[in-house]
Amino acid sequence: MDQEAKRALLHKDRQRVWHPFTQMKDYALQDHLLIEKAEGIYLYDADGNRYYDTVSSWWVNVHGHGHSRIKQAIARQLDETDHIMFSGFTHRPAIELADKLIDIAPCGLGKVFYSDNGSTAVEVALKMSFQYWRHVGKPAKSKFAYLENSYHGDTLGAVSVGGVDLFHSTFKPLLFDGYRLPSPLVSEWSDGRPTPEAAESSVAEALEAVRRLFESSAAEIAGLIVEPMIQAAGGMLMHPAAYVTGLRELCTRYEVHLIADEVAVGFGRTGTMFACEHAGISPDLLCLSKGLTAGMMPLAVTLCTDTIYEAFYDDYETLKTFFHGHSFTGNPLACAVALESLRIFEEESVLEHVGNVSSALREQIRRFEAFSHIAGIRQLGMVAAFELYEDAGSRRSYPFAERRGYRLYLEALKEGLILRPLGDTLYYWLPHCTSTAQLEDIVDRTCTVLERLG
Ligand code: PLP
Repeated sequence: MDQEAKRALLHKDRQRVWHPFTQMKDYALQDHLLIEKAEGIYLYDADGNRYYDTVSSWWVNVHGHGHSRIKQAIARQLDETDHIMFSGFTHRPAIELADKLIDIAPCGLGKVFYSDNGSTAVEVALKMSFQYWRHVGKPAKSKFAYLENSYHGDTLGAVSVGGVDLFHSTFKPLLFDGYRLPSPLVSEWSDGRPTPEAAESSVAEALEAVRRLFESSAAEIAGLIVEPMIQAAGGMLMHPAAYVTGLRELCTRYEVHLIADEVAVGFGRTGTMFACEHAGISPDLLCLSKGLTAGMMPLAVTLCTDTIYEAFYDDYETLKTFFHGHSFTGNPLACAVALESLRIFEEESVLEHVGNVSSALREQIRRFEAFSHIAGIRQLGMVAAFELYEDAGSRRSYPFAERRGYRLYLEALKEGLILRPLGDTLYYWLPHCTSTAQLEDIVDRTCTVLERLG
């Protein structure tokens, strides 16, 4: 693209567009990336510069950008149907996808409800759980428990069960009340490899807080929502699997729905197809989106148990209908893409490749141990993270105004890396197509950026 055309477009962008999670004053002060092409793990800007998409375009991309099989699946589906409404009608891609998801999801989840993004998948789960308890004669069970530092999306219900104050506190007057629980403080562990004793006692403490809450208040709690294994937006906090297993046991014992929000961690990101598999558990409700369509189309699902579904199944006059739906519910193009993505998983042994690259990632990130201002190095599957500290030994953070993470983001762009730190937490959220050679190159470039920042 010629420079004048590029400048004109970027000018119009600044004049007309409000970007998400962006302080637009920062945005207005810089030249921003105008992406013209996406292929595999790379994005290319209008000047032809190449960048590693190390955050999988906000944690959605799975098989790489521009995957030919996905493109063909969209074209094939477009020949059959574009979007059609999903109330009163049905269509093959949505039926086949529901069938496939139930096949591969943790056992016991027998029904699929479609929506179109991660936040709506969570809204659906909360509303289903809330309404279920009314149908079974326990209307007092109407509140939700959630974890500190949890993130479940930006719609008001999802924000009500969110625990990241930076994002959520402004909206407090609009939100419903719930119970905020502590999570195991993994990021406090010095080198990301806690001793088994430290892990065990941290999990035990966090579970004891849940037990105490349920003991006193389960009669008014409908569900507990959790991001299994990795609390992502809250700072890539990684849980031992025993924590998730413990939550399942407590939820069963005290009759509280366990809602697993796998919007971010589902579809192989943690090394298994679903993060719940690490703990060997099934939730009562499971929220999926992002990687569902390999990051190509907006689509989400909420899976629930037959027990939940059956509590809604009655004569219309009983008013047990689940009155919830979105215009783009079950979009056929998106469902066809999701089906194709699942075929790619199977036919191209994607999880096997993820296993190999994850092992290489575990080794590669040890190189960050050499930096004195880094601590909390951790990894699970294709996700790795660490914290930047002014003084890592005493865990003294950089002053807020320093905006270390943001400065690192800007430096990384010069090295052809799209990193997107969460505050001063730096992370990779790699697409499954990443090769070990690309991984090494990404870590080389990250080290260069860290050295340059001093
Ligand atoms: N739940 C989790 C765990 C997420 O990480 C996100 C988004 O990052 C959401 C829900 C919300 O998804 P969406 O941005 O598609 O609404």
